[in-house]
Amino acid sequence: MVDSAAQVDLEKIVSLCKRRGFVFQSSEIYGGLSSSWDFGPLGVEMVRNLKDSWWRTMVWSRNDMVGLDAAVLMHPDAWRASGHVDSFSDPLVECRDCHRRYREDHLDGPRCPTCNGELSEPRQFNMMFKTFMGPVEEQASEVYLRPETAQGIFVNFNNVVTATRKRLPFGIAQIGKAFRNEITTGNFIFRNREFEMLEIEYFVKPGDDEKVHQQWMDDCIAWYTDLGIERDRLRLRPHEDDELSHYAKATYDIEYRYPWGWGEIMGIANRTDFDLKAHSDASGQALSYFDPESNEHIVPYVIEPSAGIGRAVMTFLIDAYTEEEAPTAAGKTETRVLLKLHPTLAPVKVAVLPLSRNEKLAPLAQRVFETVQQSGRINGYVQFDDTQSIGRRYRRQDEVGTPLCVTVDFDSLDDDAVTIRDRDTMDQDRVSIDSLVDELTQRLEQAR
Ligand code: ATP
Repeated sequence: MVDSAAQVDLEKIVSLCKRRGFVFQSSEIYGGLSSSWDFGPLGVEMVRNLKDSWWRTMVWSRNDMVGLDAAVLMHPDAWRASGHVDSFSDPLVECRDCHRRYREDHLDGPRCPTCNGELSEPRQFNMMFKTFMGPVEEQASEVYLRPETAQGIFVNFNNVVTATRKRLPFGIAQIGKAFRNEITTGNFIFRNREFEMLEIEYFVKPGDDEKVHQQWMDDCIAWYTDLGIERDRLRLRPHEDDELSHYAKATYDIEYRYPWGWGEIMGIANRTDFDLKAHSDASGQALSYFDPESNEHIVPYVIEPSAGIGRAVMTFLIDAYTEEEAPTAAGKTETRVLLKLHPTLAPVKVAVLPLSRNEKLAPLAQRVFETVQQSGRINGYVQFDDTQSIGRRYRRQDEVGTPLCVTVDFDSLDDDAVTIRDRDTMDQDRVSIDSLVDELTQRLEQAR
């Protein structure tokens, strides 16, 4: 059995994603736009599930968190104050022979990795996308597409404190698109120029920051492991001094062991009071917190867990991808491909499969499907599929990670019962239609 993520071939994941409707290349009929991807019918379900799980864990399950959804376009002064106009850049080098461009800090040696040519001196390349607000394309109307969602949180700090009366420590969570004009992209949806982020800015009293930083690292790792990733496929890596962003006192990356080596899935930074102070100075509006215990205004420190959704989806898919030998109905064996996705993330929660399209069976199968779908208790997508042989349909559901299939067969007409088939064990259990929704809900929740 091959189940080690280290052995999964990325090409297999990319092809499965396209074939089954997880991820499509953007504008494919025009030849595609590099580093832009679209989530297909199953991809959107998985993204929704991922966001819901994160929101439930990070916001709804705690008493110290609130949400925000700020605009992508902000006042350009915000990006000057935050330091992004001057410092949000990567070192760009260009090969003098083949003219390919690279991020210098991603290269292993001093020469072009493609043609071994000589490389230019590095120059700092600002990664913010620029556009124009209004009908006139002039410098005065220049605005930026946000490269992180965080600044929308900082500039709203006073608004949120006044509206919610939150006391320190507390945090603001936000899910939204970000744009970075990356020098090099690649590895499917690992590094793109447009991506969606899960971000938290957690405000603490200065001095409490290091302890809280550690706590957030533990909490974030627990989120991944609760969703099925083995702890030994994750590690924490502190940033070296020369890697640290202009605002950070310390940053740890949570890394995952990809087929091509360790790579970042999430960064957890201690941004200190850098951003609130910078916006206070630039705007003239004090962004601070009145501490009722000390009767003083303080500028909180900030701990920031920050993750990309596409990267998380890809990581969960790679982690779940499994090939194993399974017996066929004809007594032979074949390779079964399955995604051992946690039920919380699985794009299809339950598939209802009539054994055949026989006209006696069809109305009952339809009734079973509606009972499950309309119960409102499955919390996700329920699918009906009556095409091809039942064996083929099980394989198709396995391949997209559907945890449970419900089969309606000819016995169902007499015993008012159906079969639940488990994706991972392939065990089949007979349950009465009356108790079906209870049984499905219980099994899906048990895995949580
Ligand atoms: P890198 O050094 O790899 O460019 P970074 O350290 O600048 O990344 P952060 O600013 O820490 O990245 O971003 C936080 C998270 O956002 C990352 O852990 C990653 O999950 C996601 N992310 C960042 N850049 C991209 C991108 N270009 N495409 C997809 N996801 C991204």
